[in-house]
Order: sequence, then structure tokens, then C-alpha cells
Amino acid sequence: MKIQHQFSLQALNSFNINAVTPKIFFPASINELVELSHLHIEQYYVLGEGSNTLFCQQTAPVIIKPSIKGISVEQDEDYFYLSVGCAENWHDLVEYCIEHEIDGLENLALIPGSVGAAPVQNIGAYGVEVERFIDCVSWFDFAKQEVIEFSHNECQFGYRESIFKQQLKSSGVITHVHFKLPKVWQPVLSYQGLNELVPPVSASDVMLKVIQLRQSKLPDPKELANAGSFFKNPVVSATLFSDLQQQYPEMPHYPQKNGQVKLAAGWLIEKSGLKGYRIGDVGVHEKQALVLVNYHKASGQNIAELAHYIQKRVKQKFNILLNTEVRFIGEQGEVTCTEIGSQL
Ligand SMILES: Cc1cc2nc3c(=O)[nH]c(=O)nc-3n(C[C@H](O)[C@H](O)[C@H](O)COP(=O)(O)OP(=O)(O)OC[C@H]3O[C@@H](n4cnc5c(N)ncnc54)[C@H](O)[C@@H]3O)c2cc1C
Repeated sequence: MKIQHQFSLQALNSFNINAVTPKIFFPASINELVELSHLHIEQYYVLGEGSNTLFCQQTAPVIIKPSIKGISVEQDEDYFYLSVGCAENWHDLVEYCIEHEIDGLENLALIPGSVGAAPVQNIGAYGVEVERFIDCVSWFDFAKQEVIEFSHNECQFGYRESIFKQQLKSSGVITHVHFKLPKVWQPVLSYQGLNELVPPVSASDVMLKVIQLRQSKLPDPKELANAGSFFKNPVVSATLFSDLQQQYPEMPHYPQKNGQVKLAAGWLIEKSGLKGYRIGDVGVHEKQALVLVNYHKASGQNIAELAHYIQKRVKQKFNILLNTEVRFIGEQGEVTCTEIGSQL
């Protein structure tokens, strides 16, 4: 198995943070994962392409970067079945599907990152979440030293949530994701921007429109280092929402099936006076308040400090605690923004 020591992670995270790991493993097969499990490493972080990860200290923990590749496709009368290695790039998979007339993933085009990370936070965009197409997930469990299949229901998908972020955190690795895509295609065009498309549309038209919309709204991490939406949209009780709405009638809101109300974190940050806020090399993006950026040589700690400051300001103004979508990784493993903030 490929192993590197004292390895800079700068090229492996979209915030461009120069954290160094004492050791990084690149297991490329189940056999190599078994080999790795024999080492009984206690503290480690599983890294995909680092587009949802903030290394907030200069030293990172031991890194496991699974490198299992490959796409296989089967079909029956009604469905395509794809088994995809965790290290495949997500957008490349979307393009591969569209080229092979396997439709469904087009709304999720251009989301950075690996296929293995997609179920972890149940990636979503333009009215679609990936769980819609996930049949099951293959998980290598380090303690059991074997691959376990998690059915769709067992994955416990929610808004930016899954079992892989909760109970299974730090206990294994997703090796493959298995998709089931219906041959009868149902475009999802309800989202603002996509409703401009005039029928009849193809999945390729939708993908191109999604790419165009995303490129016009979000900074490209290759040009301006960032990790997309930094905070999750908060979901609040109907009572809190109704109090807030009296004060802020224009507040964007999305009623949920369970009676709660989802609010727009970007709007809350903007109304807290922080859109375009910059301190040194870190800032809140000028056009998109939900995106924090590293303008040049910010450290992970600088970004964590800004995130904590934003949390504080939004809490003061709206009495809402914003939770991060981005994963905070310190020297000893995962930490929360609040934990980091209380140490600052
Ligand atoms: C510009 C930009 C735009 C974005 N837009 C969106 C968007 O529209 N919607 C959205 O949902 N997200 C978005 N994101 C966030 C990001 O693209 C997703 O979270 C993506 O799935 C992260 O993939 P990654 O491989 O880079 O994950 P990483 O950052 O490397 O890891 C993320 C999490 O997944 C875990 N993980 C990674 N691989 C594995 C594996 N094989 N097994 C087990 N755990 C694993 C890690 O431990 C970590 O907890 C955006 C990010 C950027 C930079």
C-alpha cells in the first residue's frame, strides 16, 4: 500500500490549508484495508478530496485516503445499477452517466469531491439529494475487518446527514456506492433557475444549466479557496419562526413536513452585517454570504476563528446557532466549531 510520511495536505483540501500529517495511507483495495486494520490506528481521519474539510491546526491526524476506483454498470428492464469506487470524482461520474444516457444525477453536477463522500452528508443541490438514487453502500469496518452492506434505509439519510456522519464516524471507510437509476427519467426543474428551461429538455440540458448556474454563483475553489456552503441551513420550530417573521417579514423560509421551518443561513449571515466581511486573508464571500474564503495564506485557525465569530453574531441577532456543514479536523481528529471557538 502507498504510504507517505510528513505529508503536506495543501493540495488535498479546497481551503488550500497547509496542514501536515505525520502519515497518510492510500489503501486501493479491500486487501489493503484489511492490512491497514491490522495496524489498529486509534486517531485518524478519512479524507476524500477535501472539499468539505477544514484542517484547523497545523498538524493533522493520520490520514486514510481510500483510493478504490472503478465504475461498473448493469441493467434490467426498469433500472440501471451502478457500483462505483469511492475514489471516483463525483462530477466525472455525473458526466459519465449523462454520456451513457443514464439520467438522474444531472442536478448534482459540479459538486466537488469524491463518490465515497457523497452519501456521508447526503449531498444535495437544485432540488435533489443523492440519497434518491442510492440503493446501498459498501462499508469496510476496521474492527470487524470486513465489508458490510448498508441498505438505503440503514444509511439513515437526512438533510446533510447519514449514519456515516453519526454512529459510524471514525470506524471505517465507504468502499463503493451502489446507485439505482430508473430508466424512466423524471426531470426535477422546480428549483429557481432550472424552471427557465423550456420543455422538452434532456438530462444533458439540465446538467449544462446547473453547471452554468453554479459557475455564476459560487467561487471556483481553484481560483479562490473555499469549501462551498460553510454552515447548514438551520431548521427551527414554528414558534421561533413566527416570532422572527414578525420582526423580519421578508425572511426566506421553507416549511418542512414535520412542521418545523428551514431558514437560509446565508441570509442570516448577510443580515448580521457580515456579507463581504474580511479580516486578513479570510473573509465572507462578497456575493455569497454562506461561503467563507481563503484569499491567500490563511491558516485553518484563521478560518475557524471567523466561523466562530459568525456563529456569535448570528446568535446575538437571531438567537439561532448555525451548525457547520464543513468538518473541522484538529490534530487529534474531528472537533466542532464551538469547541474550537471556546479554545480561542
Ligand atoms: C465550491 C463548492 C461547492 C459545494 N457545493 C455543494 C453542494 O451544492 N451540495 C453539497 O451537498 N455539498 C457541496 N459542497 C461540499 C462538498 O462538495 C461535499 O461535501 C462533497 O461530498 C465532499 O467530498 P470530498 O470527497 O471532498 O469530501 P471530504 O471533504 O474529503 O470529506 C467529507 C466527509 O466525508 C468523509 N469521507 C470522505 N470519503 C469517505 C469514504 N470513502 N468513506 C467514509 N467517509 C468518507 C470524510 O471523513 C468527511 O467526514 C461544495 C463544496 C465546494 C468546495
